[in-house]
Amino acid sequence: MSAPESGQPDHTLRPKTLAEYVGQVRLKEKLSVYLKAARGRKEALDHTLLFGPPGLGKTTLAHIIAFELGVNVRVTSGPAIEKPGDLAAILTNSLEDGDVLFIDEIHRLGRVAEEHLYPAMEDFKLDIVLGQGPAARTIELPLPRFTLVGATTRPGLISAPMRSRFGIIEHLEYYTAEEIAQNLLRDARLLGFGLEEEAALEIGGRSRGTMRIAKRLLRRVRDYAEVAGESLIGLDRSHDALDKLGLDAAGLDDRDKKYLETLIHRFAGGPVGVDTLATAISEDALTLEDVYEPYLIQLGFIKRTPRGRVATAHAYDHLGLPVHDDGRLGMFN
Ligand code: ADP
Repeated sequence: MSAPESGQPDHTLRPKTLAEYVGQVRLKEKLSVYLKAARGRKEALDHTLLFGPPGLGKTTLAHIIAFELGVNVRVTSGPAIEKPGDLAAILTNSLEDGDVLFIDEIHRLGRVAEEHLYPAMEDFKLDIVLGQGPAARTIELPLPRFTLVGATTRPGLISAPMRSRFGIIEHLEYYTAEEIAQNLLRDARLLGFGLEEEAALEIGGRSRGTMRIAKRLLRRVRDYAEVAGESLIGLDRSHDALDKLGLDAAGLDDRDKKYLETLIHRFAGGPVGVDTLATAISEDALTLEDVYEPYLIQLGFIKRTPRGRVATAHAYDHLGLPVHDDGRLGMFN
């Protein structure tokens, strides 16, 4: 079997400890202090909010936090908690003192459920309404002293009262090609196949700085290598396979290129509103904002301005379009 998803499940490769977690150096430094202090005081860690684009390792970090504290982790997500009853079920079932409750996509929590979460986070209690009408009464349910780890790709959508209840708020950064390569080499070692360092770096450089994408690309490159009868993945093979997968040197795929080309050719490089742009490339605006744009901004290819999205000279250059000395961009008749 070639791909790890058909043999060894991916989660077995998940780093378990902070030491195994590659990159995010400043975040790890801070977190190791907070974890040590919480362990020393035998207290639960403060509620922690992690934000950053998808695939950078927020879920993995939540598991690591639990592992490092020697507690259990309970995993759920914002959209799964619509009503206060959903929240009550999670908080009163199976959570013990010190445990970690991980809520992915916490910005998508139902509004009423969110309000019930406030006293749970602050005072470790839950107000439950029993009955209806005049006979209704509220009982207060004590909760274990848990740690909420919330993850979000959209920190701007977290309400101020919610945000203020997190003691630790950290963002995850894109990984360098070297950091990704380091992790891919570890994966290859654990899965028992050969990967040259240069090939790992090549994949790392074309993974949009994102660990999840890198892992997926490695699986595909490995497929190409195996079908070609190679037991060691070298630079040429990875280069060739990544080209076949439609990735350019900056790691942009066909959809990213479509985004840039539409912005430049149909909207004269912008400014254009995100909804219009989304419609033009048959995507929804949220996907554009969460998935495509953070990396294009990181590369300096686009800018978000109050009047809309604008393509920069770097984007023109990258697509092989002229950048004129007078600052004008693109081709003129
Ligand atoms: P997110 O929750 O931010 O979308 P995940 O935690 O699911 O991301 O990570 C995606 C994949 O990348 C997982 O397979 C995870 O093990 C791996 N990964 C992410 N960050 C790291 C890291 N710093 N070191 C090693 N592996 C990582």
